[in-house]
Amino acid sequence: MQLQQKTITTPECKNVALVAHDNMKPALIDWAEKHKDKLIKHNLLATGTTGNLMQKQLKVPVKSLISGPLGGDQQLGGLIAEGKIDVLIFFWDPFEPMPHDPDIKALLRVAAVWNIPIACSVSSANFLVSSPLFESEFERQIPDYESYLKERL
Ligand code: PGA
Repeated sequence: MQLQQKTITTPECKNVALVAHDNMKPALIDWAEKHKDKLIKHNLLATGTTGNLMQKQLKVPVKSLISGPLGGDQQLGGLIAEGKIDVLIFFWDPFEPMPHDPDIKALLRVAAVWNIPIACSVSSANFLVSSPLFESEFERQIPDYESYLKERL
């Protein structure tokens, strides 16, 4: 599929999605605690267990989706494709990728298609959250499906 790109502006207040596999949940909670002041400026969403845990431990509002293994990763992928997620923090477990593997691939793929910033480790999440773009508008290229369709109909 050869698509032209178009530029959109990601707003200052972003929809930030967070997902952590079970063994990675302590690392995500610890990271989120450290960056709570920056995170609370945005709308936070997470897969079910991650979101409920964050809300309880950090006392911040988090919209919890369906739990990952029950379809939450795919729900998140759908929201990315709809343009409703601006940043993805995804601590998947490299030591226990199965049975999550298809979900990991699908989520990372759709996030790459829509060119959203992704962090899959604590250090990349640190880079992301300390970027000035995390707190300001920024432009990004996304697939221009409308013009693709126009050329073909
Ligand atoms: P959970 O889902 O937050 O509901 O645990 C994460 C995952 O396993 O993808």
